[in-house]
Amino acid sequence: MKILLAEDDKISRRLLERVFSGYGYDVVSASDGDEAWRILEEPEHPHLLVLDWMMPGVTGVEIVKRLRERPDGHTYYAIILTSLDTPDDLAYALDGGADEFVSKPYHADALRARANVGRRIVSLHHTLSEKIRLLQEANATISHLAATDELTTLYNRRYFNENLTKSISAAKRYKFPLSLVMVDIDKFKAVNDTYGHSSGDTVLKAFADILRSLARTEDVSARWGGEEFIILLTHTARDGAAVMAERVRSKMASECLRVTSIPVTVSLGVVEWGDGEDPELLIKRADKALYRAKDEGRNRVVLG
Ligand SMILES: [Mg+2]
Repeated sequence: MKILLAEDDKISRRLLERVFSGYGYDVVSASDGDEAWRILEEPEHPHLLVLDWMMPGVTGVEIVKRLRERPDGHTYYAIILTSLDTPDDLAYALDGGADEFVSKPYHADALRARANVGRRIVSLHHTLSEKIRLLQEANATISHLAATDELTTLYNRRYFNENLTKSISAAKRYKFPLSLVMVDIDKFKAVNDTYGHSSGDTVLKAFADILRSLARTEDVSARWGGEEFIILLTHTARDGAAVMAERVRSKMASECLRVTSIPVTVSLGVVEWGDGEDPELLIKRADKALYRAKDEGRNRVVLG
């Protein structure tokens, strides 16, 4: 483990270096307080510190005080080494944030034993922060999975609903338009029956890719369930949403056959949120528009 030895007296510093190298520490030394502080600002610096109190530049106790104010301040173990030896000095150093106080002249083995306590604590902090990092990574993965449809990797219905509720309250407060596009793949049951379920999945994925290619970054596209999809377009009135819906329809009609070897089209219903309307009603209206598109012969966009 790395240890920082800060001591301005050359002979004492050499002695400390010899002691800690002898005990297998990876020694970094500083000849005054400013140099010690510079080292503590470098990447990969030691977290176990033996600091002389009285040094030119920053004192050992001042270094500890400053360290404790850093976000990683709790991860250090600092031993103050000093010729001062009154209980008041000890209290001052420990209250300032030092973990241990050793008076000169010191006994090398006693100092080594105290540094070993610090080594255990620094390793513990290291292990804990590594575990916290792994947990945070796992949480991010879980949140991602909880919001995502596995097959298409679009958002899922749950995430979409959460987002719709938030977007509607934002639209209410900031008075911007918001529209929904509900999409259904035409005759999807026939695709599954004729070509098999894995071909059905290929069609769903191909459609998800088309949605992704046409959506703006602020749009939220989700798999609503089965062969139904939904797109939320914030800051977009009905006519703008209709343009987007028509692009989706047209791209699916022209590309699905090329990509999947199966000719598949989609029907779309477009609605704009009306002030005061709740999410359920808005979705219901989009659904109604979609079913009119189906009734009117599919492969079309109907405005609700
Ligand atoms: Mg000194």
